[in-house]
Amino acid sequence: MFRPLFRTIPPTVSRFSLSCGKKYASTSTGQLAFDWEDPLGTMDLLAEDEIAISATARAYCQENLLPRVLQAYRDENYDREIQEEMGELGLLGATIKGYGCAGVGNVASGLITREVERVDSGYRSGMSVQSALVMGGIEEHGTEEQKERFLPKMAKGKLLGCFGLTEPNHGSDPGSMETVARRHPTKQGVFLLSGSKTWITNSPIADVLMIWAKLDGKVRGFLIERGEVRSGLSTPAIKNKNGLRASITGMILMDDVEVPEENLFPSVEGLKGPFSCLNNARYGIAWGAMGALEDCIDRARTYSLERKQFKGNPLAKYQLIQKKLVDASTDAAFGLLASIQVGRLKDKGMALPEMISMIKRQNCDRALVNARALQEIFGGNAVSYEYGIGRHVANLFVTQTYEGQSDIHSLILGRAITGVQAFC
Ligand SMILES: Cc1cc2nc3c(=O)[nH]c(=O)nc-3n(C[C@H](O)[C@H](O)[C@H](O)COP(=O)(O)OP(=O)(O)OC[C@H]3O[C@@H](n4cnc5c(N)ncnc54)[C@H](O)[C@@H]3O)c2cc1C
Repeated sequence: MFRPLFRTIPPTVSRFSLSCGKKYASTSTGQLAFDWEDPLGTMDLLAEDEIAISATARAYCQENLLPRVLQAYRDENYDREIQEEMGELGLLGATIKGYGCAGVGNVASGLITREVERVDSGYRSGMSVQSALVMGGIEEHGTEEQKERFLPKMAKGKLLGCFGLTEPNHGSDPGSMETVARRHPTKQGVFLLSGSKTWITNSPIADVLMIWAKLDGKVRGFLIERGEVRSGLSTPAIKNKNGLRASITGMILMDDVEVPEENLFPSVEGLKGPFSCLNNARYGIAWGAMGALEDCIDRARTYSLERKQFKGNPLAKYQLIQKKLVDASTDAAFGLLASIQVGRLKDKGMALPEMISMIKRQNCDRALVNARALQEIFGGNAVSYEYGIGRHVANLFVTQTYEGQSDIHSLILGRAITGVQAFC
């Protein structure tokens, strides 16, 4: 049993310097002091309940996910139970109101995402797909009956979802998708789905597969329930990845898979369907990448203080080492501030897709660049699994690539700045 999300702050939290009400670090004389873990005092921008939620998520992640990640990454194995644990805590679909979800604000949900990715981007990916892409998509586009049928079980992690947009021939350009839906020639109220999706997180083990397919030339969203499918569906795993190994990824191959009409999103048409889901997930990735970067900073700082080279000096004594830590720490602090601002706007319904593109692109790019620089501090040890930094670097390449590769977000922003689209 896990503690539900929003009660009190667990006693373990003090270990992670997230004490309730703490606004800035202070010395024993009460003077303000620089806190390398929160250089710009972002805690001051958080409400007490957000601090408590963040602390609960951190305690769960550090105590229950961190001890598993090394083996999971080595074996490329995703423990399905993690979703149920997260469900018990209230971490799944956390911003959704009702249907057994926690109904927290967007900053609180970002803080959760940051804590999960502090451990591993793969665990965060599994959670984001379930929460932002699939549950979020059902909440936004589904009928009341679909929401009642799927969301409560998904909130508990009893039903697992995946989001099928990318195809073997169409990643950045989903408008060219080849997957099609057509009406069954003889069965009333039944559609047939055919096509293939690839690089789909959770697909080999998903119970609910959200598929974007063209019906009469227009992109529409369908929910395939694996348990109801009699033929035509397979979801082979893609093995031997060199990033995101603690998550499970696969294909979705469909050959006239029957889907009942009640599993079609009734009104959303075109790419705004999948893009609205992606918007929420991209917002979470911006937060998550900062969690991964913060863990890299923590690990590199500790290593640089302990490792001695030349006359018994710790690596931390050298200016080049310090600069790497300063660059990373500055980018992490700026990235967090930007994420909080967009989260506050999102709560007010004022966050634009371009804002989310900006923080997704910037935070993922800076996390990757800095993690690669920090990796150098570990010398040869960086190559070992045990030090964790190489795992983050490999993962952060994926976060920069999926849900809109960074250059695609540059095109989105370039269009917004100039009014001229440069996609083709
Ligand atoms: C581990 C993992 C998990 C994933 N999970 C999911 C998931 O759950 N669901 C899902 O639907 N997808 C998922 N994806 C797919 C991911 O979203 C795509 O890989 C991504 O959108 C990029 O598409 P692509 O790989 O086809 O690259 P491409 O579209 O072929 O792009 C290749 C490169 O070309 C650049 N490029 C493309 N077009 C242009 C242009 N017009 N101008 C300039 N540069 C351009 C891109 O920026 C990129 O650098 C996942 C991917 C990975 C690796």
